[in-house]
Amino acid sequence: MTPRNTITSPPDDEALEAYLNEKPSDIPAFQDLLLRTLTIYAREDARKVLGVILSTLNTRLGSLMLTGYAAPIQSHSINIRESILDSWRNSYLFPLRAIAKTMSLLGKHLWLKTSPNFDRVTGFTKVPHHYKPGPHFEYEFLQFPARDEPQIVETDVVIVGSGCGGAVCAKNLAEQGHKVIVVEKSYYYPPSQLPMSEAAAGVHLLENGGIIVSDDSSTSVVAGSNWGGGGTVNWSASLQTQDYVRKEWAEDRGLQFFGTAEFQESLDRVCQRMGVSAEHIRHNHGNQMLMEGSRKLGYHAKAVPQNTGGHEHYCGHCSVGCGSAQKQGPVVSWLPDAAKAGAEFIEGFKIDRVMFDDSNGAKKAVGVKGIWTSRNINGGVDGHISQRTVREVIVRAKKVIVSCGTLWTPVILKNSGLTNPQIGRNLYLHPVNMVGAVYTEDVKPWEGGILTSVCSSFENLDSHGHGVKLETTCMLPSLSLPALNYPSGFDYKFEALKFRHMNVFISIARDRDTGLIYPDAKTGLPRIAYTPSEFDRGHIKQGVLALAKICYVTGAREIHVTALGMEPFVRDPATLSSSPDPSQDPSFQAWLTRLSNTSTKPPASQFVSAHQMGTSRMSKRPEDGVVDPKGRVWGTEGLYVSDASVFPSASGVNPMVTNMAISDWISRGVARELKGEKEGERARL
Ligand SMILES: Cc1cc2nc3c(=O)[nH]c(=O)nc-3n(C[C@H](O)[C@H](O)[C@H](O)COP(=O)(O)OP(=O)(O)OC[C@H]3O[C@@H](n4cnc5c(N)ncnc54)[C@H](O)[C@@H]3O)c2cc1C
Repeated sequence: MTPRNTITSPPDDEALEAYLNEKPSDIPAFQDLLLRTLTIYAREDARKVLGVILSTLNTRLGSLMLTGYAAPIQSHSINIRESILDSWRNSYLFPLRAIAKTMSLLGKHLWLKTSPNFDRVTGFTKVPHHYKPGPHFEYEFLQFPARDEPQIVETDVVIVGSGCGGAVCAKNLAEQGHKVIVVEKSYYYPPSQLPMSEAAAGVHLLENGGIIVSDDSSTSVVAGSNWGGGGTVNWSASLQTQDYVRKEWAEDRGLQFFGTAEFQESLDRVCQRMGVSAEHIRHNHGNQMLMEGSRKLGYHAKAVPQNTGGHEHYCGHCSVGCGSAQKQGPVVSWLPDAAKAGAEFIEGFKIDRVMFDDSNGAKKAVGVKGIWTSRNINGGVDGHISQRTVREVIVRAKKVIVSCGTLWTPVILKNSGLTNPQIGRNLYLHPVNMVGAVYTEDVKPWEGGILTSVCSSFENLDSHGHGVKLETTCMLPSLSLPALNYPSGFDYKFEALKFRHMNVFISIARDRDTGLIYPDAKTGLPRIAYTPSEFDRGHIKQGVLALAKICYVTGAREIHVTALGMEPFVRDPATLSSSPDPSQDPSFQAWLTRLSNTSTKPPASQFVSAHQMGTSRMSKRPEDGVVDPKGRVWGTEGLYVSDASVFPSASGVNPMVTNMAISDWISRGVARELKGEKEGERARL
């Protein structure tokens, strides 16, 4: 099969040749991004292991031990180098397995972000069709002059983190008449600068360059870091917390609030503010396939409400910043509401710790401390740091709300001297395995709403609310195509050429088993200790098998899975025109059996997460969690957490709306407490 007959609207000869001849190591943008990734974003221990392996490879003995060849690795042909990488994937030495996996994942990811020819040959467009930047809210951020001594700022409430949790708190507290300051370590980008290229979005909109890899390399975690946090880059899916999860939290965990009408009011209130609705959805090809395939197989699927204020929002590019202003995330709705009610904002301000006053025997939070870095003279965030003001800033406040997200909140709490052993534990990630499908028709998967449908037939596989949902994923090349296995550079490039005919689906687990966030001993950055358990992997596998069937009955001609060593299912074209009953196709059945018997134990499969939850979990008793049912940090006064880290366990549904509803509840409580305190003060005067 040649590239020319695998795709409709094939590229011209020149573009195709340039694409096939392209070598990532010759692309300057690839070199820059790789250097940046290895020097800034890679963990120091991983960098050290890589350094040791590369130095060993530079010696004859070392090379012989690690590759079977005495000559240095760079002197071999590409085929031999690829066979060496392949042998490392199955090596009994963990560092070699980890390097092989991380390097091929990184190589795919960075190449897809920087290839000069990929867009030409696939037709992928970096901005949505007919895109127009939406209206822009005139944000004003506090500025400070350069001085040696710390800048002191005073307020009623300081909210650390401008994402989904923090932004809801900001609106509620400011509208209740309290003086609010929201601080964020990253920066604001107006619609005119969105959507960014995938390479730029990694640097400016996402945590750690786009990916944080778990300690054992099993799981790649994606989280937002910008003005608006995850809300700026997420995919609009706005599902309310389901009854069985609410029941578990209310009854098994003793957090009765989740069973009340008051929590339902919070859910409804946040959905109403964002215009959440399923009415205006136009499903793209992938979502049509998920709905139709589920229907044909007797599974249950439904449309997923979107927080797009009643707009169709046929965008597809939200992961790199949605500038249409249709998605009613923090930047478009909650933070402008807060500003209109008088809230003030500081961007580029990374909080190191919460400050306490211990003088009365109680640990009373009195503010936060961190480093503020201004923009440069042109209003940008690039260039040498000497061109920008860097200053210590202290915000003194009556109440401190930490909304830094599940990765950072436990790190800040630990940095602040809190010793509760529950801090950082109970990490849930909703781990995902991907299934890719190639269709005959022209799909253009990057167009349309990203996640507008869900199949829920497998969400309760253990009768205790654990299982998987089947969903679509964002079809930007660097987010979706790493799902394809990497047998060799040429094969990978060849498969990627089919991008405009592909959809990628996800089997996303409500995980029962947990991991841990802890600060790196040297850098202080969040580290992730998490391996999807056998129990959760079993559920994900069931979802993958169901997705493969959905792809089959909707006419996919190839089905790709991420399990190591599992070849794609390539369909006999004759079965495409006949009745697409999967049980009548022996070769498909044999492939499903092989898939079902293939291990997905890491490193054999790659897991991905965009949903981090639980590391400051809410509990009825101090010994079981980090915050009480009102979001107050156990053992402290005036300190709250309000973000997805307070979830008592995994939400099961995509977490934004649950997080916002909990933040609505927590911040209303803080507003009431502040009001009471202020009235008490007035009465005393
Ligand atoms: C690509 C992607 C797609 C998603 N799609 C959906 C979806 O469609 N539907 C859905 O329900 N959920 C979705 N999610 C998940 C959802 O966006 C997150 O669960 C949500 O944003 C988490 O909110 P949060 O308040 O916990 O933290 P965040 O929204 O992550 O905000 C935390 C903020 O705190 C800042 N911060 C961290 N540390 C510090 C510090 N030390 N000082 C100052 N600031 C700090 C960070 O920079 C960040 O901006 C998606 C997530 C991603 C990454």
